[in-house]
Amino acid sequence: MKLGKNIKKDFKIFDSSGLVYLDNASTAQIPNVVVEEISKFYNEKSNVHRGAYKLSENASQKYEDARKVIAEFLSAESQEIVLINGTTSGLNMLAQILCKDLKVGDNIVLTRLEHHANLIPWQQISKDKGFEIRFIELNEKLELDLESAKKLINKKTKVVSFAHISNALGVIAPAKKLIEIAKKVGAITVLDGAQSTVSIEINVKDLDCDFFVFSGHKLYGPTGIGVIFGKKELLEKLEPVNFGGDMISKVSYENAVWNEVPFKFEAGTPPIAQVIGLAKSIKYLQNIGMKAILEHEQNVCSYAIKRLKEIEGLKILGEYAERISIISFVIEGVHPHDIASILDSQNIAVRAGHHCTMPLMKHLGINGTTRISFGIYNNEEDVDKLVEGLKKVKELF
Ligand code: PMP
Repeated sequence: MKLGKNIKKDFKIFDSSGLVYLDNASTAQIPNVVVEEISKFYNEKSNVHRGAYKLSENASQKYEDARKVIAEFLSAESQEIVLINGTTSGLNMLAQILCKDLKVGDNIVLTRLEHHANLIPWQQISKDKGFEIRFIELNEKLELDLESAKKLINKKTKVVSFAHISNALGVIAPAKKLIEIAKKVGAITVLDGAQSTVSIEINVKDLDCDFFVFSGHKLYGPTGIGVIFGKKELLEKLEPVNFGGDMISKVSYENAVWNEVPFKFEAGTPPIAQVIGLAKSIKYLQNIGMKAILEHEQNVCSYAIKRLKEIEGLKILGEYAERISIISFVIEGVHPHDIASILDSQNIAVRAGHHCTMPLMKHLGINGTTRISFGIYNNEEDVDKLVEGLKKVKELF
């Protein structure tokens, strides 16, 4: 199988650096073939959907072909794929669109695990509109508690939005069950898939979610590209919040008529090179096989959990939850930033801090964790180096 160490040669960053990269939940490295694909576009650059000349027609074709690849990756239709800048901009856009008519007495339901990107957009609009935000509680394993969800979601719930996989803990949400509960009261469902598209095979039809959002850079693609999947009938019904070129079919000084979906949600020049790059990274991953990737990450993750037990005073958060590819831990008496900088001195990159989940950290009574997250190129050797590194941390503290 072409995973783990063998695959490092596909990435320039691993050529000679000896880097042990364990911060894939923040961003994954980019394979050489994707960088080449992006350069190719820039060597024959043109805008899309505009020029009546060959160069522009080629760019439009590549851009729309890339949309098809992304749609198929999610088991969606091309018209259901809105191309934006990232998960954060996607969630901000959805919060503005979906909260437009909300009022005092309505509520939306999030969870205790949310990334700031799936909290602050709703929170800020609720300050204006006066609707309530409710949070699904965690059980003792730090999984989302379905009983709490059933109590919180009621006829006044207009939106249920949650992280498919928690970036802070690696805990997997019971997505299908939550969507089922939300559907019973007619609430719109939004999945923050920033962490899940890399390690779970996503089928939005099977999930039956209304919206699904993710970023290309965590999927071994370029930065500056995000995707919103939205059910076609909803996209057709809802009003855009960004206005300008390309998203219209007719404009007068007094009025404007929107373009068809998905274009009415894509105002201005889109991130063309990034979209083409993302489609290439999806093809690269599909060539390896998403099932093989999932299995590989699970194996490396289980090996890491086993070996981390050798470190005295180390506690994994949500260890017994249903989880994947992210491990967040604390070591008694050592600050996460000290752990990360000692590991950095050994060329091991990990993340330390609140992971853009400050309310969750407060809820758990800690100020941060050290987080390791695995990608397709990580292997048991990387875990061994990490454990050796952590043993050095223990020697110093
Ligand atoms: N949600 C989750 C669960 C994430 O992990 C991240 C990235 N850390 C985001 C949202 C935001 O993604 P981006 O920074 O690519 O917009």
